[in-house]
Parts: sequence; C-alpha cells; structure tokens
Amino acid sequence: MADYYYKLDSATKTDSEKVAWCSSVGPAEILRSLGFHVYFPENHSAMLGASRIATDLIPYANAVGYSPEVCSYLTSDIGAYLRKVTPLSKAYEGIKSIPKPDVLVFNTNQCRDVQDWFAFYAKEFNVPLLGVYTYRNINDITETHVKSIAQQIESLIEPLEKISGNTFNKMELKKVLSLSRQCSNLWKKVLDTASATPSPLTFFDGSIQMGPAVVLRGTQQAVDYYTLLLSELEDRIKKSEGAVEDERFRLYWDGMPIWGRLRAHSEIFATQRACVVASTYCNSWIFTDFDANDPFISMAKAYTKLFIARADEAKENYLKKMIDFFKVDGIIYHDSKTCSNNTNSRYAMPQRLEDETEIPSLVVNGDLNDLRCLSDEQFKTNIDAFIEQLEGNK
Ligand code: SF4
Repeated sequence: MADYYYKLDSATKTDSEKVAWCSSVGPAEILRSLGFHVYFPENHSAMLGASRIATDLIPYANAVGYSPEVCSYLTSDIGAYLRKVTPLSKAYEGIKSIPKPDVLVFNTNQCRDVQDWFAFYAKEFNVPLLGVYTYRNINDITETHVKSIAQQIESLIEPLEKISGNTFNKMELKKVLSLSRQCSNLWKKVLDTASATPSPLTFFDGSIQMGPAVVLRGTQQAVDYYTLLLSELEDRIKKSEGAVEDERFRLYWDGMPIWGRLRAHSEIFATQRACVVASTYCNSWIFTDFDANDPFISMAKAYTKLFIARADEAKENYLKKMIDFFKVDGIIYHDSKTCSNNTNSRYAMPQRLEDETEIPSLVVNGDLNDLRCLSDEQFKTNIDAFIEQLEGNK
C-alpha cells in the first residue's frame, strides 16, 4: 500500500504520468490499461474513519452545503480537503496531500453520492468528470442491462485516450482484467477460509485485508499479496487456530464497517467468544464474472451484479447462501445513518429472513465514519444481549 501511495504521489508531480480517480467499484481496469495511476477516494475516506479524524472534518463539508445526512465518506473527505489534512501524511512520510486528478470516473452502481462527491472535485481541479450509470434495485440482470453498461464502459475509452495521451490497447486491457480476476479469485478464497470452524479470520481482519482488492486489483502485487495471505490462513486452518479464542458463535455482518471502532468492536465480539466470520461488505470486491476473453461484457456483468445494486429478493437469496456456507448463528445488520445504500434493515429484510431461516438477527445503529451517530454503550449492551439470546437458543 505504501508503494502504491508513493507512486501516486510522484505521478501527481509530473506532467507525463496521469492520475485518474475512480469509485471503488468503478471501471478501474479500463483506467489501468490506459496507463493511469488510479486513486480511490473511498479508500482515503476509510482511512479518515479508521484514524478517527472523520467526525471532526464533516462539519466543514456541511458548511459548504453537503448535508450531515449524506454519505460521511463524502463529507469527511471533502472536509479533509478543505482543511488540507490527510491521513496519508501520517501513514507515509513525505506525502503531503492527496494526488491531484487528471480525470474522475465514477460508477453509480453503488450510489449517487459518488457522482456528487466526484463532481465537487472535478469543479475544484477543473478536470473532466466521466461516469457509468448502472441500473439499480434489480432482481434479474438481463442481456439488455449488460449490453447497455458494456457500451457505456466502452464509450469511456475515447475521452480517456485523449486525457492519458495513450492509445487503447485491447491486449493490455485483457492483461489487466486477467490480473483483476486472479485477485478476485484469491480474495474469494481468502474470505471463504472463514467457513472453517474455528474461523481463521474475522470480518474486522477482512476490512483491513481488503485494501489491495480495492486499490490494487489489476496488478501483480495484489495477486502476490493474496497468494501469501491465503497460504497463511490455510496453515491456520490446518492447525485449528481460530481468529477468536475458543469460538462459540459465528455471526454475519451486513452493511458498512464502523471504521473508527474496528478494534473496539472486534474486542467486544472476541470477549464474547463470538466470531464475525463474514460480511456482505468484504465480499463486494469479488468479481468472478471478469473474463479477459470478453472484457466489456464481463466487466459490465461483474459491476452490475454487485450486491448493493440489487433488489431485496436477490439480496435475500444471496444472504441465505452465505448463512449456510459460513454456518452462521446470527446476523447483525448495521443501519448506517449516512449510507442508506449499504443498509438493508429498513424495509423488513431482517424479519423476512428470520421467518425463513430461523436465524436470529440484530439491527445496530451507527455510521461508517460519523461517530456522532453511534452510542458505544448501546452498541455493547445490544451485542451482549444478542449473544445471551443466542446462548438461550443453543
Ligand atoms: S455506498 Fe454508501 S458509503 Fe459508499 S460512497 Fe455510496 S453512500 Fe458513501
């Protein structure tokens, strides 16, 4: 990750190397194949959250018109920009600011907030803003959906060629896509190791380990990283080394992590000998549809099939599979105040799934980055009570 950020930092200081900003489930592969250094503002926002400086920065974005109700990734990131602060400076000596974009590319598959977020910076840096507008809230993905998204992705090439100064090379895209697919396959295998009992990793580990799957997919480094991680986890399975000592309960986390409380929350669950084995969030960077032989159609499929872009019926079918595969005793839904897109508890999904599966669930209130939306006492009380309920069930 250090290498990645240092390269971005040096690229931003030259005219010859171009930087593209991309939403986390946007068409990063196209950008890489055209020689762009790719920066993901969401990764930066997660750092703002994890370093617990996000909450204090949000009001600066509120002051320029972005409501406290909208995505706190957006508000904390814009707040950080306005205050000229970045956690990158603390993590990586010598980096003074985020890299300047030559172009910004978003995909609305996850939400509209990324579009507004990127539009702020496009105006600020006076650079082009390009986007892919994906269908949302869909059950069945049809050929029409896929073809239209593939066309949108393909139509990005012409303007991106002009900005990058490079000519599009399909062979290069195939190479990048093939590396992305390898990264994706390995990341899936890493997350799937949590189906072992005891699980060798938790959702909290996954939230950190997913960094390369987000910012480095399409590179050999990400493939090497997950190859190493997978072998370590497989070794732990052989030795029956659980991530949580003496694992008693296995839980599933739906929704965003609460970045500023990763350690605190992992400790609350570990104390209860409960392992949060899997999550919708970490699984969202598994793109097994990528196919180097059919790049545009396969990218369109992968980026449209995302859990977050689907209707409740498709989401529930997916969750039922996850419950079985990871042998889950209970589900925790995070109702994230500023991200309705990644919150699935507001339209009776927990009740429907409980009726069908008899797996108990708990809704916790909080937020990805705005810690004012979270009561630590309430969170702990609710988790303790939920574990008691699971004990009763056993
Ligand atoms: S999905 Fe949620 S957290 Fe992510 S950018 Fe959109 S609103 Fe923000």
